Amino acid sequence: MSAGAGDGVGLHEVEALSLSGQPLTIRASAIADLAKNLRGSILTPRCSGYDEARRVWNAMIDRYPALIARCTGTADVVTAVNFARHEGILTCVRSGGHSQSGSCMLDGAFVVDLMAMRAVRVDPVARAVWAQPGATLGDIDHETTAFDLAVPAGRQSTTGIGGLALNGGMGYLSRSCGLTVDNLRSADVVLADGSFVRASQDSNADLFWAVRGAGGNYGVVTSFEFDAHPVKDIFGGIITFPRQDGADLCRLFRRVMADAPDELDMSFGLMALPDGTPVSAVLACYRGPREDAEALLRPVREWRRPLADHMGVKSFREVQALFDDLGWGKPTYWKSSMAEEIADGAIDVLVAQAEKMESPMSIVLIECSGGAVARVEETATPYPHRSARYSLVASARWERSEPEEDARHVGWAKETHALLQPHAQKRVYLGFVSDDGGDRLRETYGCNYDRLVEIKAKYDPANMFRNAANIKPKA
Ligand SMILES: Cc1cc2nc3c(=O)[nH]c(=O)nc-3n(C[C@H](O)[C@H](O)[C@H](O)COP(=O)(O)OP(=O)(O)OC[C@H]3O[C@@H](n4cnc5c(N)ncnc54)[C@H](O)[C@@H]3O)c2cc1C
Repeated sequence: MSAGAGDGVGLHEVEALSLSGQPLTIRASAIADLAKNLRGSILTPRCSGYDEARRVWNAMIDRYPALIARCTGTADVVTAVNFARHEGILTCVRSGGHSQSGSCMLDGAFVVDLMAMRAVRVDPVARAVWAQPGATLGDIDHETTAFDLAVPAGRQSTTGIGGLALNGGMGYLSRSCGLTVDNLRSADVVLADGSFVRASQDSNADLFWAVRGAGGNYGVVTSFEFDAHPVKDIFGGIITFPRQDGADLCRLFRRVMADAPDELDMSFGLMALPDGTPVSAVLACYRGPREDAEALLRPVREWRRPLADHMGVKSFREVQALFDDLGWGKPTYWKSSMAEEIADGAIDVLVAQAEKMESPMSIVLIECSGGAVARVEETATPYPHRSARYSLVASARWERSEPEEDARHVGWAKETHALLQPHAQKRVYLGFVSDDGGDRLRETYGCNYDRLVEIKAKYDPANMFRNAANIKPKA
């Protein structure tokens, strides 16, 4: 049973946590009022559907929020934020539910759930795309592909645009078109006081600056407006080699990427095929003519005898969906570092740690950045990794979350990360962390940190939005 507008059925008081983490009781009458004023529905721990609604992508996260408000639009979000402020309840925001740390689903919290808000609209003439925050990258690609357009976003189509667009958004098109934040034209935001504002270069420019890299801290974004870019067919896909070729393949990948044009994005990985065969692999995505792609990728495709070469002309949507089988429901733990270059020492660590992977679903990965990302001034947005050309990721993923299993796989990811530190920058990409990265925010945001604090004090002085990588209103 859930409660929606006007039905007010069976709602009872719930035990929750306050903003500062103290126990708090929310009265049944307050919950009934909230339910009456929402077009969406309210779930308490006694409602059927509660367990399904508290699930997030990472099955290691098993949390019990006090209340979940399933919003259907901006009006519901305003109602939810006013309720949260009035009750003083710990609040978190959920869009796609993909955050590794589960920052969208906290014990004892009030969850402003935007998963049902997933509409996308394309204006092909203005090359503009409007997306609600619960849209997945696949939802956006579905609409934009019809116009041979794409919004630069990530590398997996089930990811939610909400959290991705507010952290940065690195993906297949970043090197040629910039990050998702670089392509944000405006955002509609419900602030902590319940007011609604549009943030763009011309309106609330300080807020617009802050949400492009630290966006979970300032309010609830109810709509994004993005630039779209012409993207028709892509040349790309994955090529695999035996695992023992891993170190040499990584050096080849580094050579090819050293002077690759912006239109080429590549990743390198050490992983296992679904049948358990350990492999080394390169994943490519070239935005441009097929002949150019074939020439650029020849050094990799004609290097040694591959196990399989799945490169070819594909739609952008197909490329984005290549890893969709990394679906919901498995425990996962990621550690990631950014690096300007791929040091020989980093290759040695990745190859050695791949041999120690504790699960056939785990992977070590190098993804590329640079190109258009690096040409944006460091102070133009708070996104902190303009100078990093690579991210080095240890991704542990295993079958079932149990204390001993979890410790083993998390231990492997942490060890890999620690061994990579001499070859990496000290900053972490907050989209890729399994803890909240909150202890390293000054280091991560560097010269932009003090400005983020000032803007936080202006728009959210009581620190209502505090769950993910929290910028506090006082330094
Ligand atoms: C399989 C997988 C692949 C990924 N690939 C990429 C990739 O290629 N590139 C990349 O950059 N990242 C990638 N990520 C990381 C991803 O960007 C983050 O996990 C991001 O948080 C996902 O957004 P979400 O809306 O699904 O998250 P949620 O878990 O719903 O939200 C995470 C946090 O973001 C904030 N937030 C979310 N929506 C809003 C909103 N509307 N208003 C205000 N705050 C909000 C909240 O603080 C929330 O706690 C990937 C993650 C996964 C699991």
